[in-house]
Amino acid sequence: MVARAARATDLVDLDGAVSNCFACPRLVAWREEVARVKRAAFRDQQYWGRPVPGFGAPDARIGILGLAPAAHGGNRTGRIFTGDRSGDVLFAALHRAGLANQPTSVAADDGLVLRDTRIFAAVRCAPPDNKPTPVERDTCAPWLHREVTLIRPTLRVVVALGAFAWAGWWPVLRDVYGQQPPSPRPAFGHGAHWSGSSAPALLGCYHVSQQNTFTGRLTPGMLDDVFARAKQLAGVD
Ligand code: SF4
Repeated sequence: MVARAARATDLVDLDGAVSNCFACPRLVAWREEVARVKRAAFRDQQYWGRPVPGFGAPDARIGILGLAPAAHGGNRTGRIFTGDRSGDVLFAALHRAGLANQPTSVAADDGLVLRDTRIFAAVRCAPPDNKPTPVERDTCAPWLHREVTLIRPTLRVVVALGAFAWAGWWPVLRDVYGQQPPSPRPAFGHGAHWSGSSAPALLGCYHVSQQNTFTGRLTPGMLDDVFARAKQLAGVD
């Protein structure tokens, strides 16, 4: 699997390869079980039920790093953050920021286009309870590392959605950029900002989960501030 990720010559090749990954037995079983049983509201739909590739501009200056696809969102539609409430909040914010051509993301063929932005997850398969194990996180890391390598020429800033994604960036820094991660690691927080010498800046943002957005812990205004900062750091107008 590591070798296959490393061989991917471009994003199309990478996306095709990751979609056929079966490296984590627990996650393969879960993604397929969810796709078979389905949620009642989607019982007439064919679920994707496979790993979910990154999505967005191949020359992105802004990366958005999430945790993993949602069982009935990305795992259903085949596109990250697509078809669930988290995506509703995220893409509405990206549209307000001028980074998406539309405020909604409901299906892989809905015409959504991102500008200067690419979204990817630290783990590419939907995990039970949204909790990948450390082994699953490490097993999946080569896909993320290769994706960042392929967009490295333009990538200037990464927005980490939540502490899991924030922690997932440090191995990228080491393996893709050849930089020793800071020690101790900077703590995750909403609005946290870390910059290295030749690597993209890292911005922390509370995850766009319903747990955060329904409770007001993360508001649309807070998301707008993060993406305004990301655009500034990335030199996006
Ligand atoms: S989580 Fe990643 S490594 Fe594991 S099966 Fe899915 S795509 Fe493969």
